[in-house]
Amino acid sequence: MLKPVALIAAALALSAVAPRPAAHVFQPGHIDLERGPDGNTVILDAPQGLVVVDTGRHPEHAQAVLDHPRKVGKPVVAVVNTHWHLDHSTGNRDLFAIYPKARLIASDAASGALSGFLAKGREAARQRLADPKTPAADRARIARAQALLDDRPALVPADPVVQSGPVMLGGRRLVVNLARNAATEGDLWLLVPDEQLAVVGDLVVAPLPFFDTACEEGWAEALNAIARARWTTLIPGHGAPMSRKAFNRWHKAYTRYVDCAHSSATPQACAAQWQADAAGFYTPAERDDVGMMARYYVAEVLRAPADKRMAYCRTAA
Ligand SMILES: [Zn+2]
Repeated sequence: MLKPVALIAAALALSAVAPRPAAHVFQPGHIDLERGPDGNTVILDAPQGLVVVDTGRHPEHAQAVLDHPRKVGKPVVAVVNTHWHLDHSTGNRDLFAIYPKARLIASDAASGALSGFLAKGREAARQRLADPKTPAADRARIARAQALLDDRPALVPADPVVQSGPVMLGGRRLVVNLARNAATEGDLWLLVPDEQLAVVGDLVVAPLPFFDTACEEGWAEALNAIARARWTTLIPGHGAPMSRKAFNRWHKAYTRYVDCAHSSATPQACAAQWQADAAGFYTPAERDDVGMMARYYVAEVLRAPADKRMAYCRTAA
């Protein structure tokens, strides 16, 4: 019989051959308003492989994500997009190039976006690529995004998620929740029951909620559902993982900001309120940009004429 020390040595030797992957790995994104942010990525270990939740925008982020399966010697079996925004999905192509059998788990919202919001962006991008004055670095970024939009199967799943419920991915049980008309027309958020983890994409986001493709009522419903769910750690779409206490503070700040936008208060007052309520969810260097964006969303989006707002809230009623 082996002595305990020998047993430990044997276990260490085994672990040196095949390091046991962490149950989840957090790959933080970056907020860079100049060149566009990367969303956070979470890589879940499953018995039959890895499940990658969101893939970032830039090649450096996708590469950091791809280093993990290589390190632990397991394939990527599924890519989950919490939503189609390009800072969460552009890396899809890099992953599918190496793991072509991986399943894409997403809502059908990208399909609508390709003929709506993204179609407008594509025309602007085409013009910038045609302009000889566009700097080379910008050109590379634009071309990378265009390549994703031209590769529909990398963004739009053949079998989209149409309702909430438990799923087995790679042999691990997860709960996939669908939030209609929230940050986009169809957002997914995940519960990982065996870790008491919630991965929620941009339904919770630093430094402020992005309302460009959002419906504030559907979003508020999604936040209430997240608040009711069982979890102890929440990973937002951008920014650091949150405790329940931090989430509650963010949730309250969201509610007060939207209430302010629907009141007669000035956009400046609503922005100042967000800056105060959400202190700590943005850095001091981001404060002015956060104030500017918070004013913009009140004046130009949340108070836009009803027909414009209905573009995102139309099926919520
Ligand atoms: Zn994002």
